[in-house]
Amino acid sequence: MKHTGCIYMDPRTPTAEHQPSRKSVGTEDYQTEIDRLADQVEKKMIAWRHDLHQNPELPNRETRTAKIIADHLKSLGVDEVRTGVGVNGIVGVLKGGAPGDKVIALRADFDALPVEELADVPFKSTFVDEDYPGGPFPVSHACGHDCHASMLMGAAEVLAGMRDQIPGTVKFLFQGAEEGPPVGEDGGAAMMIKEGALETPKPDVAFAIHVTPFPTNTLYYCRGDTMAASQLLKITIKGMGVHGSTPWMGKDPLTVAAEIITAMGQVYRQVPATEAITISIGKVDDHGRFNVIGDDITLWGTVRCIHQKMMEDVDMRITRIATHVALAHGLTAEVSFDQEVPAMYNEPDWLDRFMPTMERLFDAKDIRSGPPQLAYDDHSFFQIACGGVYLFLGGQDTKWTDTGLEPIDPSKQIPFNHNPHFYVNDEALKTGVRMHANVVMDFLNGKI
Ligand SMILES: [Zn+2]
Ligand SMILES: [Zn+2]
Repeated sequence: MKHTGCIYMDPRTPTAEHQPSRKSVGTEDYQTEIDRLADQVEKKMIAWRHDLHQNPELPNRETRTAKIIADHLKSLGVDEVRTGVGVNGIVGVLKGGAPGDKVIALRADFDALPVEELADVPFKSTFVDEDYPGGPFPVSHACGHDCHASMLMGAAEVLAGMRDQIPGTVKFLFQGAEEGPPVGEDGGAAMMIKEGALETPKPDVAFAIHVTPFPTNTLYYCRGDTMAASQLLKITIKGMGVHGSTPWMGKDPLTVAAEIITAMGQVYRQVPATEAITISIGKVDDHGRFNVIGDDITLWGTVRCIHQKMMEDVDMRITRIATHVALAHGLTAEVSFDQEVPAMYNEPDWLDRFMPTMERLFDAKDIRSGPPQLAYDDHSFFQIACGGVYLFLGGQDTKWTDTGLEPIDPSKQIPFNHNPHFYVNDEALKTGVRMHANVVMDFLNGKI
């Protein structure tokens, strides 16, 4: 499987301090109530997070996690809990008791990664999924989706506890397979939408948070371009197997594969250098042996474009290179693109509407912005459909300096998402709940 979603940023990336908005949302009575309820739920939330962390599940296999979430939503007495939406996804609907007809969607993903956990935490995962396609795989929450799920479970509890004050409807979108389902299976945000996650009622806005290695309880955002469009790339080179001592008797796909991999670098010279794109081949499936040339070879990779409009052009160039390099040596190559995720774009208008709420929750010095990342998050499907923003919440022992992001303890590394050492401090969870709940109340009260 490919596990290429989510956050990755070069720690040397220049970032900027946040320029405060001209308008502020002011203080509201419901803030105190949110804070009180968030304090109350914090301990439980940390316990959920540790439990999910120790019991991680790979994309499309998140049945235990999904059941815990669905049971929690039902225990809160929310108006509707739909399960199995897009394989293991859950849609919860909470109707507020105050007059108002707007609808806001909050999204949390809950799948884990085929990464062996090396983080030194007492709730470390040791789970190995023996049955997963392509496995066995050690599994861990190396992207922090355990935090996202528990934060949204916490937010659901806070909002259910103050439903009489909510002037509208809250939709909870708990999503699996954000990291991409196994090849050949459907899943993730796109499938949830296909199965009606955004129907009855249709949200007027969608909001999501992703945890990052940035300083704990600080906010980070991108204005406009936020994350890349992504595709899974598969190139199959068809040759003819033969003994390694007589390559002229067959058709060697391995040397052709090597040429194709190298030639991918030519695409960077064919698109404007100002366009951020990457093509990476991460896996080579070969059937040969040291003295046997195999019949065919499959290359697996990922294609990223910050601008959606570049994707078609880049696909054409990859296909042209791969098929023609193969042809030049008397072989054929088939190229296909799968698991398409559109680019994430934080519409500046939406961002300007959300930032006053964030300024109420974070000190100005704890908000930073910066350039987009070539990672992806399929929350883009929800954001494109509903509007809204996607924000990053820091959770590690790091600090911003003039040169970028640094660990507070210089002897330590900064493990980014998907790194086996990735960790998130529990202290960030309550901040996530406050972000969700304040966004809900401000939006439904017409302040966002
Ligand atoms: Zn991820
Ligand atoms: Zn992620």
